[in-house]
Amino acid sequence: MDTATAKKMDPFLAELAGIVGPSNASDAKHIRYAYSYDLSFVQPKLPDYVVMAETVEQVQEVLRLANREKIPVVPYTAGTNIGGLTIPERGGILLDLKKMNKIIDIDVADGVAVIEPGVSHAQLAAALGPLGLRFGWPVGPPSASVSSCCISHGIGGMNARYGLQSQEITSMEVVLPTGELVRAGSCAIQKDAWHSVLPLPQLDGLFKGWLGTTGVVTKLGINVHPAPPILKIFTVSCNTTQDMYAYMFNLSNYEICDDITAVSWWLSQVPIPYPYIPKPADAAEWNSYATTFSWSEKERDARVEIWEKVVAEEQKKGSSLAVTHYPEEALRGRTQLPSQVVGSTKNYCKMGGAGISWPGTFTPAKKWAPVYTRWKEILIGHKLSPSVRMSMYRGVHYGMLRAMIPFNKQNPAETENARRAIVECLRVDLDEGGIPYKPPVDFAKEINLRADPGYLMLLKRVKQMLDPNDIMNPGKLGF
Ligand SMILES: Cc1cc2nc3c(=O)[nH]c(=O)nc-3n(C[C@H](O)[C@H](O)[C@H](O)COP(=O)(O)OP(=O)(O)OC[C@H]3O[C@@H](n4cnc5c(N)ncnc54)[C@H](O)[C@@H]3O)c2cc1C
Repeated sequence: MDTATAKKMDPFLAELAGIVGPSNASDAKHIRYAYSYDLSFVQPKLPDYVVMAETVEQVQEVLRLANREKIPVVPYTAGTNIGGLTIPERGGILLDLKKMNKIIDIDVADGVAVIEPGVSHAQLAAALGPLGLRFGWPVGPPSASVSSCCISHGIGGMNARYGLQSQEITSMEVVLPTGELVRAGSCAIQKDAWHSVLPLPQLDGLFKGWLGTTGVVTKLGINVHPAPPILKIFTVSCNTTQDMYAYMFNLSNYEICDDITAVSWWLSQVPIPYPYIPKPADAAEWNSYATTFSWSEKERDARVEIWEKVVAEEQKKGSSLAVTHYPEEALRGRTQLPSQVVGSTKNYCKMGGAGISWPGTFTPAKKWAPVYTRWKEILIGHKLSPSVRMSMYRGVHYGMLRAMIPFNKQNPAETENARRAIVECLRVDLDEGGIPYKPPVDFAKEINLRADPGYLMLLKRVKQMLDPNDIMNPGKLGF
């Protein structure tokens, strides 16, 4: 930077540039624009500055400065969350962490990887593969950050077995909104011990599910798992949601699958139809795939035996369950992870004109059928595909229900149409006991409307304690 440029520079930008270097801090409109929108229905908003940090110390200094000046900070890794979560509600600094992308350690003996926030699914998969290890890759973009997925209660390909990505977290290092560096989990007691958040008080909970509103995670420990070589996928179809639920419930109880998922006919199309088209009369309403991994053919055959028993039991009850082929390209896209088919968004928004949003929820599986019936009415009423996914997590303990809705983002009326339909779907789900994950502000407000006052008071008190000047991703919690 020459002296003339430095003189002209906004003094706050100059301070930021002093911390991260002039090439890593900008207020140029074309750069800010790139961070002002995402795929979702959430309206674009510009940050005032974009900053790329490369070290933990830089993150600390940026937060100290922002806290002193009461300027908002939005943590960002790839912006693929589909909920407007990195769109700055109140401007400020967009803190892009993708240059902090070191895999610090892979401890094969403890089955733990320690990563920086910019490490992507593709990057970690490439490092774990040669070691015979794996993680539960989401059916999302391979370029998205592993740690963001984990701290946002993300969903991946081993959830039926191990639960959510956040349940794989073993330890973390965090910069607080006021700039202090803190640790939670075993690494807080011995700096190189990254193996477990238990049996300590679960302080990591202060940074999981908070949508970047309580601090910036700068290192994360996660469990990684051995990768058995033999993949067997069970595929079936059903004509009713109740039949599909009964099959998935029955199979889940045996806990033999890494992933048990069903998708409606619309979601099994590549790309998903936009606007809505009726399903062909002879096509099943639901297709399901269940992935299993085995160490030997004998083990695989034992899994097949259990699955065949489940299918026979369901069919004996009069279920519409049939053993069928899952649509080829969609099956590859959902089971060969990280996915280059689904994750590329090819099937999600190719027809839609670049928009996707979701009511993504944890909904008790026994409520899938009534909620899906209502969702279908609402979505078709708005000329949108009921492209819905249902998955079982950790045996039968969580049910996930979500609709991936493509829409034409280039047309404001069509975007608003999708927003209204999705928020209406969300209300139906909340009324049945479901809870949205990675919620956009529209959803957060709906959650807060129903929330126990004590819960809201505690939430606000914790936020106030950690972030007294409300600088971290302000507005995202809906209050
Ligand atoms: C086609 C498609 C399919 C998808 N499928 C899935 C799926 O199967 N499962 C799934 O879970 N997700 C899925 N997603 C959503 C998305 O990929 C995930 O939410 C992903 O984890 C977000 O990662 P990101 O790097 O883009 O995070 P970002 O969008 O950049 O950030 C997500 C949130 O985390 C906060 N944040 C980021 N870094 C930090 C940090 N270091 N400290 C504190 N807060 C931070 C941000 O402020 C924001 O609130 C899909 C997305 C697309 C486009």
